[in-house]
Amino acid sequence: MARKRENTCSFCGRPMPEMFSGLDNDALICHECIEAGHKMLATMPKKTEKKDDSLSLSNLPTPQEIKDFLDLYVIGQDDAKRFLSVAVYNHYKRVLQEISNDDVEIEKSNILLVGSTGTGKTLLARTIAKMLKVPFAIGDATALTQAGYVGEDVESLLVRLLQDADYDVQKAQRGIVFIDEIDKIARKSENMSITRDVSGEGVQQSLLKMLEGSIVNVPPQGGRKHPDQELIHVDTKNILFICGGAFDGIEQKISQRMNTQVVGFAAQQQSAQVDKNNLLQYIAPQDLKSYGLIPEIIGRLPVLTYLQPLNREALRNILTQPKNALTKQYKKLMAMDGVSLTFDDEALDFIVDKALEYKLGARGLRGLMETVMTDLMFEMPNHKKLGQSQSFTVTKEYAAQKLRTEKLVQLKNAG
Ligand code: ADP
Repeated sequence: MARKRENTCSFCGRPMPEMFSGLDNDALICHECIEAGHKMLATMPKKTEKKDDSLSLSNLPTPQEIKDFLDLYVIGQDDAKRFLSVAVYNHYKRVLQEISNDDVEIEKSNILLVGSTGTGKTLLARTIAKMLKVPFAIGDATALTQAGYVGEDVESLLVRLLQDADYDVQKAQRGIVFIDEIDKIARKSENMSITRDVSGEGVQQSLLKMLEGSIVNVPPQGGRKHPDQELIHVDTKNILFICGGAFDGIEQKISQRMNTQVVGFAAQQQSAQVDKNNLLQYIAPQDLKSYGLIPEIIGRLPVLTYLQPLNREALRNILTQPKNALTKQYKKLMAMDGVSLTFDDEALDFIVDKALEYKLGARGLRGLMETVMTDLMFEMPNHKKLGQSQSFTVTKEYAAQKLRTEKLVQLKNAG
């Protein structure tokens, strides 16, 4: 509070006609010192409170906690979630362990997710990276070629990881890389000639080095390496690689193996328990070999699990249950314009029916919803201005009107 007092400023020592003081202390400050202090504060670099949320053994979530987090974003896929949670937990325990004197070295456990496209493989990997707040990069194995050929070198995967880590090499070295379509670089047959196989076995060989842990020289901006360029050395020892692939037709290999493995009485017993509609759940490393992955790669992806095809119920749940489910996103967008939006159950059932009928899968749900919602999102923001109704219910009739056959065919062709 300001006081009229003939006194001196406790800071500059000058007598000033007007002084300020705190409530219960005798120190006085003149307005000039206040202004000078204010300027000083304004020019000082701001100290941002940076909470250290980097991963450590004490804050590493347990497998159950990892699975619970995945449940918030990914529908179903319980087996894959359990395998992933344990593998990720063990991986970071290994990375974060204190140097110990015993000879037990925990080996790296990269992961292979087998399942049709659009069943949530990328989503699982991305969600884990989000939970652990580690850098994350996605690459497509089909884009990779052997060094020297047209296409991307395998190092390009690490360029993306570095970028996601803001070029903090230490951080990138604990990140997660998701390599999709790993099945596409399989040899077409187990004993095919490899001489002109630039995107098959050759790529598998260069991937192998990265998966097992090596120092890779990465051109910081990506692209081809050239001789005078400064390269960043990235150690891949602690990077977790999660590979994904549809492995179309692998069920046949699985069934062949299962038929030849057991004979006689045991076979009868076993085939009684085999769920022929879901052979993927029995996938084993031998099947990957029969499919054309080289044994060394298979060995470097020791955690092998599968994803189920998404049925009607799963697709329906994807629309409403995940934390950022599509219906929740549209409701939020509308709420920002003061519009209350609801979806009739029958409307959502109808959308799922169309996704199944046109084989659009989970990925197609977004396109379907967007088609249903576009006119509404165009019109509703005006309602407020015109004093019209501020709520809307998407009914089955409304959805059917927007999802006419030609629109659906368009969506199918686009996907
Ligand atoms: P994949 O990598 O298996 O081809 P994605 O993880 O990229 O498939 O899935 C594509 C999209 O479909 C995701 O972004 C998500 O919106 C949706 N999706 C797929 N599977 C699921 C799932 N199990 N739970 C929730 N959403 C899913």
